[in-house]
Parts: sequence; C-alpha cells; structure tokens
Amino acid sequence: MDYQTLIEEVYQEIQSENPRGKVADYIPEIAGVNPDQFGMALVDLEGNVFGVGDYQVPFSIQSISKVHTLTMVFPKFNTQLWSRVNVEPSGNPFNSIAQLEYEKGIPRNPFINAGALVITDALCSKFDHPVEQISTFINDLAGENCVRVNQEVMNSEKNHAARNTALAYFLKSYQNFDNPIEQVLDVYFSHCAIEMNCVDLARSFSFLANDGYSIFAKREILTESHARRVNALMLTCGFYDEAGEFAYRVGMPGKSGVGGGVAAVMPHKFSIAVWSPELNEKGNSVKSIRALELLTDKLSFSLF
Ligand code: GLU
Repeated sequence: MDYQTLIEEVYQEIQSENPRGKVADYIPEIAGVNPDQFGMALVDLEGNVFGVGDYQVPFSIQSISKVHTLTMVFPKFNTQLWSRVNVEPSGNPFNSIAQLEYEKGIPRNPFINAGALVITDALCSKFDHPVEQISTFINDLAGENCVRVNQEVMNSEKNHAARNTALAYFLKSYQNFDNPIEQVLDVYFSHCAIEMNCVDLARSFSFLANDGYSIFAKREILTESHARRVNALMLTCGFYDEAGEFAYRVGMPGKSGVGGGVAAVMPHKFSIAVWSPELNEKGNSVKSIRALELLTDKLSFSLF
C-alpha cells in the first residue's frame, strides 16, 4: 500500500473541497490559531512515517490526551474503574451537567469531561507527579521527547474553568472524587494543554493498532484485552455526540479534541493523526473527519 500517495490525494481533495467550520472560541488561547492549517501523518506498524501538509506543526491535543490518561489508569484499576465511570456513548454535549445529575454522578464514559475528570482523579491517586508522569508516558509512547504543556493554554482554560469546576464539585457530591478538586483540575487542564504534532501523536497511538504493544517504547503498554477495550471505547465514545456518525462514515476507533486534532487507528495496519482547527457544531474538526472518510473510502477497507 502506497500510503504517501494515498494521503497526498486525500490532502488535495480536501484542499479543493475546502469545507469550513469554526475554531473553538471558548478557550481564548486556542481561538487565535491560524484556521487554514491542515496536516496529516500516518504511521505504519514498522514505524514508517508518511506526512502531508502541516503535519510537523505542534497543536493543542486537548481531549485526545484522555486516551493517554485512560491508558495509564486502566491497568492500575482494571474493571474496578467501571464502577466510577460507564462505557456508554453519551449522546449529549461533552460538558453536560444535566446528564451527570440524572445518572447520579457516574459519567457516561471516560471521554466526556465528567468521565475524564474521574480518570484524572484516579490518576492523581496513583501517580505522585501526575503532569510530569503523563508527559513522560506520552514521550515514551512516541519514542521521543515531543510533549510540551503549553502554559498559556493551560492558564487560559483555568481562567475559564467554571463548567469543569462545577462538574468536579458535582462528582464530589456523589462521592466520586477522591483528591482535592483544584489539584485534579490543574492536572486535567495541563494534559489537555499538551502540544504535539501529527507525527508524534500518531506514534503515541501506534500501540492501539498493535494489540497493546508499542514498537516505539518497545514494550507492552496494555494487554491485548485492555487495548481492545480502549479501541471499543474510542469507536463508541471518541467523537462527542457524533460518535455514531464517525463510525458510520469512517469506521475507525479514534478520538478528537477541540484543538481540531483527531487520532485514530486501523488495527493491525496503522495509526494516523489529522489536524485542522475549524470544528463543526459537535466540536469535531471538519477537515480531519472528512479526510479520514476519504481515506477509508480510498482504502476500501475499514473495521467493517
Ligand atoms: N480542555 C477541554 C475542556 O475541558 C477539552 C475539550 C475537548 O477537547 O473535548 O473543555
């Protein structure tokens, strides 16, 4: 398979279609990024990298980091984790407070904000220096020192934290939060503020295409069984309340973030990261999603 030609074709088609959306404006520091940027990197399971467009430009990975934090926490708690957070698609906006109330403080899944806060809380219970350890972990997955926590983005979110703080207090009121709220929020905003480029992000997801074994870290990151579960969660919950549409149109497990990135895997074949800042009304990058749809159409295979 000539992946380089494939992604270049996809890139050209997207540039001529030029679908537009709106850059996330609720995190002021992200609102200022150049909306025209668009890049894509595909990494196969031999470690070959194929890239096009702005694939070497670092961007804010935001919620994509929730896959990394879940990966750190899952082996520490195993199935006990699922008494604190469910594994169902939410069908609601990612920062919904109403859903958390009528489901009595158990978030729908680890990727909506409430669920990710529970995961970050669990992480803080097991790791003494969470922010450093998350960065080290992702560097290890990518096989190089690539992670930078953008302090401006982190502070920007911290200064607009009312909703995430409300979610954390809500969780606490249902005894589903163990550590000090401020501390966990700081860790959460820091991991959301991680910047990486498409190549490193795709490399950091490679183990999920490879039954849990990372060819970059040269070790098993998750058991095959845990890796399958993380992929199932990405497929059903990785795209806010548009996960069904993504599975229908693209058919790959993946995770998006409001910075405009999407990381996805084709099990036993490759991992891929796509980035373009303009989002649709569900919070997913318009160009990234369209690019992955074109890619799987051209490949004429997906998961299904
Ligand atoms: N840090 C963002 C928030 O908590 C993450 C949003 C996202 O990428 O889904 O609102």
